[in-house]
Amino acid sequence: MITILKEGNICRYEDSIIHASSTVTLIEEEDTLILVDTGNFSDAYRIQRSLSRFNLTPLEINVVINTHNHLDHTGNNHLFKNALLLTWENSNLSQDVLPKGIYILPTPGHTSDHISVVVCKRRTLIIAGDAIPTHNNLFKRIPPAISQNRSEAFESMKKIVQIADWIIPGHDGMVRNPFKK
Ligand SMILES: [Zn+2]
Repeated sequence: MITILKEGNICRYEDSIIHASSTVTLIEEEDTLILVDTGNFSDAYRIQRSLSRFNLTPLEINVVINTHNHLDHTGNNHLFKNALLLTWENSNLSQDVLPKGIYILPTPGHTSDHISVVVCKRRTLIIAGDAIPTHNNLFKRIPPAISQNRSEAFESMKKIVQIADWIIPGHDGMVRNPFKK
């Protein structure tokens, strides 16, 4: 089961970002509780309140996946004291740790160490992180405004759009992939 615990947002003023917080997604599969990204530091209360609706506490989360190491995606990692932290660096562990049908997909560009999470069931869902930050990026096929490597970012976006039926962007809610035939 996939649940968005907190939908992310980006608040801009002219060309600068005033506040950003990532979408925080809970995956429940085969008794494993996985959280993808932990939002901005200021989201701690909202995340805990969302978890409590499922009778869960942060201490019950088994795995935290960070799509990349930016503070608006990692701000509450410290709450999940019992979880294994998966990132690009140790993504080789993912095969042993993640339940069947859940994979790490390297999606560099926004940062060189960016990963996305693929959930393969009857349909394929990709939790894209900042490989696709918003609906606007997806619908207009524009890579993230801030990219370490713009052509890599474009390739990563293309890869996600080819595979996914549904997409959860880094700072937006779940959406059906408009380009999937
Ligand atoms: Zn980022």
